Amino acid sequence: MKIVAIRVYQTDLPLAEGRYSWANGKYVDIFDSTAVVLETDEGLEGCGEVCPLGPFYLPAFGKGARAGIDELAPHVLGHDPLDLTGINQVMDQALLGHPYVKSPIDMACWDLLGKTLGAPVCQLMGGRQGESVALYRAISQGPADAMAENVQMYRDQGYRRFQLKVGGAPNDDIARIRAVAAILSPDEILVADANTGWQAHEAARVVNAIADLDVYVEQPCRSYEESLTIRRRTSLPFILDENIDGLDKLLRAHADGAIDAINLKISKVGGLSKARVIRDVCVSLGIPMTIEDSWGGDIITAAIAHLAHSTPERFRFTSTDFNSYVTVSNAAGAPKRVDGHMTASHEPGLGITPNWDTLGEPVAVYR
Ligand code: MG
Repeated sequence: MKIVAIRVYQTDLPLAEGRYSWANGKYVDIFDSTAVVLETDEGLEGCGEVCPLGPFYLPAFGKGARAGIDELAPHVLGHDPLDLTGINQVMDQALLGHPYVKSPIDMACWDLLGKTLGAPVCQLMGGRQGESVALYRAISQGPADAMAENVQMYRDQGYRRFQLKVGGAPNDDIARIRAVAAILSPDEILVADANTGWQAHEAARVVNAIADLDVYVEQPCRSYEESLTIRRRTSLPFILDENIDGLDKLLRAHADGAIDAINLKISKVGGLSKARVIRDVCVSLGIPMTIEDSWGGDIITAAIAHLAHSTPERFRFTSTDFNSYVTVSNAAGAPKRVDGHMTASHEPGLGITPNWDTLGEPVAVYR
């Protein structure tokens, strides 16, 4: 099989809540999603998506994804999409870094592999584990009482795991965490995710002030070294996300005793192929994961579901259903949340069909 054309689509994904806000005053109203469709000489098409969390969350942005695909396209055209190792080597050889650019291409190759073999991607990634994948809901940053109200609203929709967006002024964050902790029951999970927003002294104040609560602390500071100092002065369970952008960082953090869990985002590490390696190493090392991506629509939600559903249940800390956060559907067949859980499709590949009306005309076609 050969890739004979690459079609690229840009789609705006507005938020159902209107705005998503997190650390240091950052926010996004409309997400910039890029979908990639690989055409093959055998008539099959595979689909992938990348959707950065604005241009200032990770070193990734929507226009960058499309520029990067423009750079990679001549190298990917003509390659066998089922040769996942080879195509990742080709992409890494042609473009240093920029993992998020490679992610939708790798994702589309997995879709093609599944369609070719008549198997869902989760089966190819180790097999379906358990009935369904438990989801968390990210709670956009706002006043403490409004965040608690949002948690209650999403609880009523079936979620039992919540990730509060903090990383603001320490006193405000302490109030946010306390307001939400007060309404949760012991079987629910609360994560305070600072998204690198605190300086070390601010993080130290917050973790001291919430030491009596049952709460996880995620990515307090910008650098790994700063975050490690916070890890060493709190007994609260500790998650790293932005700093764990590859296997080398994971192994270092594990050796340093810096993590109780990590956040594994598909595009942060360069696609499903590399995410699967990190996932499997985490399972071997005993590290549970939030398995997700930076953001996305139906295509990314489907990919998250396959990666998560093929992960042993004990190591699925949580995942999320990004397609329920946005008002536009870019594919049919993606998982729909039921009682705070989702399941990977039983259809071949990612199990989705691109919504061509939503995607519109391609913004670029490479042949
Ligand atoms: Mg995070």
